[in-house]
Amino acid sequence: MTIKYCANCVMPNTKPNSIFLNGVCKACLYSINKKETKINWHQREIEFNQLTSNIKKNNKSEFDVLVPVSGGKDSLAQIHHVIKRNLKVLAFHVDNGLKTDIGNYNLNLIPKMGAHLMTFKPDTNIQRKLVKIGFLKYGDPDLMNHCLLHALPIRTAIKLRIPMVFLGENAALEYNGDAKIDSKKVSLKWFQEYAANKKFTAKFISRKYKIPYSKMKIYDLPLNSEIKNTKAYFASYFFKWNSENNLKIAKKYGFKSLSKNSEGTYKNYVSIDEKFNRIHQYLKFLKFGYGRATDHACEDIRNKKINRERAIKLVKKYDRKKVSSYYYLDFIKLINISKKNFFLTLKKFTNHKIQSQIRFIK
Ligand SMILES: [Zn+2]
Repeated sequence: MTIKYCANCVMPNTKPNSIFLNGVCKACLYSINKKETKINWHQREIEFNQLTSNIKKNNKSEFDVLVPVSGGKDSLAQIHHVIKRNLKVLAFHVDNGLKTDIGNYNLNLIPKMGAHLMTFKPDTNIQRKLVKIGFLKYGDPDLMNHCLLHALPIRTAIKLRIPMVFLGENAALEYNGDAKIDSKKVSLKWFQEYAANKKFTAKFISRKYKIPYSKMKIYDLPLNSEIKNTKAYFASYFFKWNSENNLKIAKKYGFKSLSKNSEGTYKNYVSIDEKFNRIHQYLKFLKFGYGRATDHACEDIRNKKINRERAIKLVKKYDRKKVSSYYYLDFIKLINISKKNFFLTLKKFTNHKIQSQIRFIK
């Protein structure tokens, strides 16, 4: 396959699910719509105010809204939007076992903001098995983590009769421009395409690797019929989604960034909560030829913070940085594999055809 880059940003066409129109990626086209007055953000905020005041009026359960949180800047911004409207908030965090100190620090700001925080730690044996399968068989340690992060908060909200789940951005729209995927609420289709990576659902993994489904149910989205009274909304539908804005909001509550850039990119406030993401991002680079720096450079181009020429320099400098022991030592310990096996797996998933072309990015 020959890599082609978006004419506006630096996203390659090797990105899974990406759509290009006349040489421009759909995420760029969506961002142009976002900027030009095609979306009435004021109207969207009014819609959010109405939605939340209806919930406040009619809700009989202990919490009005459940917010899934990682403890990153976006989480704090999401909490900000709901506490500002006096909702009874339950922040819900899944601790996958590799949290960083700064990640814990930022997460613990949430109760101080005026929300309750619940942390869920999955069974280490199951978690180890699933991460191992994701990493060794599919080159993605986060394969089932993504499912858990999306499914369990919704399941919990249903069980606790919480009428609203407030998610962050709709990745389908923000990063792929796929407007066909419902932009306001989470649908089953969205979950299958963007959280469960199409066929990699809990049912599929349970069958294929003979792990009892009863133990994996929390990784699966509930049935449509169960979802009836709980609706999951994307914050990015109501508020213009922008990393810098969210960072500004988070900082008001004491959010800490790293003193230097996060490994694999040029920003110091992203991917700092836990260590899985770095390995996931590095594998993404080996497989598809673009890493975290590309994601950030694309967002910065779309927000007119940098030009394409500068973006190319940043991508060349940061995307290719090898994953360091700070990340992989804890990871291999968690899933109990050798360092040799770790690096062999990275090699196994490297797409050499793509890797031989990326240096010609222009
Ligand atoms: Zn683009």
